[in-house]
Amino acid sequence: MVWISPDPGPINASIYFFTRRGGVSRPPFDSLNVSVSVGDDRAAVLENLSRVRRVLGGREAAWVRQVHGDGVVCVVEPGFAGEADALVTRSPGLPLAVSVADCLPLVLVGNGVLGVVHSGWRGTYAEIAARAAGWMGDPEAVSAYIGPCIRECCYEVSEEVAGKFGEKFGDVVRGRRLSLPAAVESSLRGAGVENIYDVGLCTGCRGDLFFSHRVQKPRTGRMLAVAALR
Ligand SMILES: [Zn+2]
Repeated sequence: MVWISPDPGPINASIYFFTRRGGVSRPPFDSLNVSVSVGDDRAAVLENLSRVRRVLGGREAAWVRQVHGDGVVCVVEPGFAGEADALVTRSPGLPLAVSVADCLPLVLVGNGVLGVVHSGWRGTYAEIAARAAGWMGDPEAVSAYIGPCIRECCYEVSEEVAGKFGEKFGDVVRGRRLSLPAAVESSLRGAGVENIYDVGLCTGCRGDLFFSHRVQKPRTGRMLAVAALR
């Protein structure tokens, strides 16, 4: 099982950006696919999820049905928490999870609060990062961790989308190449969050480590980003 932890990591939370490695799914879902809705064998996905749970110390995570919106839910217990694209909690030891395959996973930690965010281009444009940061209390005490996602090198969007992002966030597009991390950083700074760390890995470039919806289409798996307050 392989995951990427941000460096420097926070002192009061554990953060896991899981890779595609360490599971039992067969190609094109090899091997740690966590989604039952992409065409993978259900038994394999369940085994993968139980391997993830083992890494989390046997703890069950809270999760949402992701809808590419800007909804944030506050959770106090594991399990399904409704439709949203961000979860926040004050409960120590409760893992929060989002699934991704190019979309940007973001973790926010500070003031005894944890946030985990799924930010694709729609959520990024709707500034879900800033909305989640709004739940975190004093932004100066919040640290933000950007996980592996598709980056400028691999992410060409329509002229319309590129134009919208340029207008809203300024210098986050080159031609039709969009930098999701730059747009998310812009959102976070707008919300007063200055401590922003980025693991810097591109899901499109690193097919050996990550699923990429864009690069590996039409069928590929999903990975988890999980964090828990200590
Ligand atoms: Zn790339």
